[in-house]
Amino acid sequence: MKLQDQIAIITGSGGGIGRTIALELAQHGASIVVNDILEEAANAVAAEVEELGREALVSVASVTDPEQVEAMVSEALDKWGRIDILVNNAGITRDGLLVRMKDEQWDAVLDVNLKGAFICTRAVAKPMMKARYGRIINIASVAGVMGNPGQANYAASKGGLIALTKTTAKELAGRGVNCNAVAPGFIETPMTEQLSEAVREGWLSLIPLGRAGTAEDVAGVVAFLAHPEASYITGQVISIDGGMLM
Ligand code: NAP
Repeated sequence: MKLQDQIAIITGSGGGIGRTIALELAQHGASIVVNDILEEAANAVAAEVEELGREALVSVASVTDPEQVEAMVSEALDKWGRIDILVNNAGITRDGLLVRMKDEQWDAVLDVNLKGAFICTRAVAKPMMKARYGRIINIASVAGVMGNPGQANYAASKGGLIALTKTTAKELAGRGVNCNAVAPGFIETPMTEQLSEAVREGWLSLIPLGRAGTAEDVAGVVAFLAHPEASYITGQVISIDGGMLM
């Protein structure tokens, strides 16, 4: 119960890795703001959080909309008086080769994955700085470090998120707010289910540990970064990739 009575916002937590992070943090004692663009999905995860004996607040808001994000943060502050943890998890892909990529594909991915994280970070920064406490954890990707053919937009958004992580860490360090990123590799989720067998085999051949990761592999590291014993870690990017990047 290392997160007893703490308040965590997890963006895009109606499914996939975000849902697993929400449940992991709830298991450690945190109350959860379940944010997603799909109300039904967010409600279902909120019910799972409540089954664990924790409080949940559903926020149907797009991370790309500053007004909706401000409303989400205000609602959480009205309910609990503080926000201890923000996990910028919401993310999308719109893959395509660089030469064929449409402006709309580029903009959509940069808007959610990078600008969305900026909007949410800006919204929680003031209450966290005032409280002299906060943990911001950004879900980046190995693609943001090594690049990935067919994902110019996605890799650029995650590379940008890593730079945002380091800048946030430097700007907020003096106020007790830590900011780190995790860089998952190939994780089994709805996002990766669509890949062909050949692409899956290609990824697996690059992973020394010889298996795809799970949402639980990611959630465990996110929980560690949120725990009190991680208080001397900030501005870092932790790969969760079975050794792919090494
Ligand atoms: P996912 O299952 O597609 O989950 C992403 C969630 O974000 C979905 O619930 C989605 O809602 C939500 N979302 C999309 N746009 C949003 C918006 N504008 N505002 C709020 N929520 C929004 O994907 P995932 O695999 O769990 O990915 C989670 C994070 O991990 C992403 O940042 C992804 O880039 C990162 N990651 C994943 C992998 C992997 O192998 N899976 C690897 C590296 C990094 P809807 O479903 O309703 O659209």
